[in-house]
Amino acid sequence: MIPYGRQHVDDDDVDAVAEVLRSAWLTQGPTGPQFEEDLARRVDAPFAVAFSSGTAALHAAVAAAGIGPGHTAATSALTFAASANCALYEGAAVELVDVEPDTLNLDPTLVPPDVDCLVAVHYAGLPLDLTRLARRPRVVIEDAAHALGAHTADGPVGNCAHSDMCVFSFHPVKSMTAAEGGAVTTRSAELADRLRRFRNHGIEQPTGGDPWAYEIREVGFNHRLSDVHAALGRSQLRKLDRFVERRNELAERYDQLLADLPLRTPSGGPAGVRHARHLYPVRVPERAAVYRRLREADVGVQVHYVPLHHHPRFAEGRSWHLPRTDEAYAELLSLPLFPDLTDRQQDDVVTALRRVLEEVAG
Ligand SMILES: *Cc1c(COP(=O)(O)O)cnc(C)c1O
Repeated sequence: MIPYGRQHVDDDDVDAVAEVLRSAWLTQGPTGPQFEEDLARRVDAPFAVAFSSGTAALHAAVAAAGIGPGHTAATSALTFAASANCALYEGAAVELVDVEPDTLNLDPTLVPPDVDCLVAVHYAGLPLDLTRLARRPRVVIEDAAHALGAHTADGPVGNCAHSDMCVFSFHPVKSMTAAEGGAVTTRSAELADRLRRFRNHGIEQPTGGDPWAYEIREVGFNHRLSDVHAALGRSQLRKLDRFVERRNELAERYDQLLADLPLRTPSGGPAGVRHARHLYPVRVPERAAVYRRLREADVGVQVHYVPLHHHPRFAEGRSWHLPRTDEAYAELLSLPLFPDLTDRQQDDVVTALRRVLEEVAG
């Protein structure tokens, strides 16, 4: 089965991890902060704080922003559950926003004016244009789990040009991996401090006092990234540009190879934007049959995502009207896309898709 996504790990990644395993520090050593420094530099942000997962990083961002009971966070209806769960963890309510049909990002003109927080997802790796918000909520958190390596006219995603914090994931299917891991970048020293405390049990080091002293004012978690994971992340970060380059090459190749087929290819974004191409989601007729037949042909297509309002947890007690999300969901299918996908494999995917589309039309 050709998967829809998978990591690329080289011997030098393995060596970087082995070096940490042979060192004195498996966690809370020098590698975590080095990875944070490299990441911050790469995305042009003053601060990066690493976490044990993208989900933990989202949770920390919501908590650091002071979003909690009585507050509402808006996010896209077409995203992974973590984009909304992060607000629920802290006791906030969630408002779902319908998508734009061409980008499948949430429609910034539909964000309710009274929400306290926006969790802005860059769907498939295409940056959501935050300058199009009619009104900026008090807190804007970018869920850039798909978008490490993307750029806008205002610089790399992660520089927080129009947000308070930006969250990345290092899950193996994302732009680069730490096996599990995530990070928050920010321009605020105060938010960075809060994020670090939240990650480490709420522990603060008071200035002066006993040398062993530490203080806890707020409850925190152990959401740290180990040095073993950070070593992989740091080594992978050096290859990020290559990975995103190859993803873009493959996406352009799909655009050409699929041009004459009865389906809709995803938007590449406006001029001046670099897409991270985490996903290549096409829209096809008879999606269920196409999905099943491609899987039978060993093409590991996926559906991103079952919309949040289709899950009982988000549906209960509400009657959502999110027609464009529903229309998109009925047709969505993510084709295999990852740096090690060969042209030959991609040709095989397209051949299988061409045959299957003829069969379902016939
Ligand atoms: C992957 C993903 C996350 C969560 O990241 P993990 O590192 O798997 O916890 C959050 N939001 C979106 C949109 C994602 O795709």
